[in-house]
Amino acid sequence: MKNIVIFGAPGAGKGTQSDFIVEKYGLSHISTGDLLRKEIADQTELGKRIKGIMDAGQLVSDDIVIEMIDKAIEHDNKGILFDGFPRNVAQAEVLDQLLAKHGRTLSCMIRLDVPREELIRRMLERAKVSGRSDDNEETIKHRLVEYENKTLPVAAYYAKQGKEVKINGLGDIKRISDDIAHAIEAL
Ligand code: ADP
Repeated sequence: MKNIVIFGAPGAGKGTQSDFIVEKYGLSHISTGDLLRKEIADQTELGKRIKGIMDAGQLVSDDIVIEMIDKAIEHDNKGILFDGFPRNVAQAEVLDQLLAKHGRTLSCMIRLDVPREELIRRMLERAKVSGRSDDNEETIKHRLVEYENKTLPVAAYYAKQGKEVKINGLGDIKRISDDIAHAIEAL
């Protein structure tokens, strides 16, 4: 059973490539961003608490996302693609513990590398159609700063475990998918 983290800056193409990976390898797709947005759309208590934080481009607290991930692993029997999680080293450490609790280990972390200028260009482009309230220039800058300060160290965490697989996230979508498939099949 494969358990994979897809990693990259906002705008790196995680969503697009996640769709490809879950389809091809029959994994459950767990996106913390999607789960959190659903809470907001459903106007739950939690949704009301986190809306301002997400609109400001900041990370919501670890406890909230960790509980979501714990439940997702509990209910899964196919293997999981984690998207948007872990977003800091503390979350990465907890993920290792949660997987171990269920007798699983992480197969690999797939890192999509895209230059900063291209990330900004893509997010501004997406803003025109996404309807996401955090896709505006001010928030995009905050999300990139959060990524660089808190999320990037997660890459080093997995590199140390020998689990980081770097993929060039620039260029043709199909070529990127092929590179990912290659990496997964080499596991
Ligand atoms: P993107 O990768 O484009 O930034 P996401 O949908 O992954 O989009 O995340 C949107 C927002 O959801 C983040 O800016 C953050 O506020 C919140 N979020 C998602 N995942 C996490 C996480 N693991 N920890 C904390 N906050 C998160």
